[in-house]
Amino acid sequence: MFRGVGEALSLAHDHRFLIVCVTNQSGVERGFYSADDVERIHRRLNELLHPHRAAIDAFYSCPHAPERGCACRKPGTLLFERARDEWGIDLAASAIVGDRALDIEAGQKLGMLTALAVGPHHWDEAERELAERGVRPEIVASTFRGAVLRILARG
Ligand SMILES: [Zn+2]
Repeated sequence: MFRGVGEALSLAHDHRFLIVCVTNQSGVERGFYSADDVERIHRRLNELLHPHRAAIDAFYSCPHAPERGCACRKPGTLLFERARDEWGIDLAASAIVGDRALDIEAGQKLGMLTALAVGPHHWDEAERELAERGVRPEIVASTFRGAVLRILARG
């Protein structure tokens, strides 16, 4: 897994993309794991990416349960807007790769290029979610790497 992801992130960096991870971690508020655990996993991800000359530049996570109705849980856009403000990101020149329809919905609200990356086993579920939310990604790929390559090919 990390070979493909690392290669993709490394290529994106070469194309001068900043890599930001925006993640829903409702398990924090539900008490399944702590915010420290989430941070530890993020650090570990970057350790695993390092040999591939890749890194995630910033992580933004929502710790809230869905029923709270917070503005930071995707498809809410608060964390994207925070990242935009903190890093000076042009969202219209940015892309989102996600494996859920809520990722695509968040990206479309912000005018980003959207890419859905789902393996064949999750395709039916993804299709149903997309239909429910009434969103369509511009790019569909079966792997994260495939989605990133398609984004980069658009120049
Ligand atoms: Zn939240």
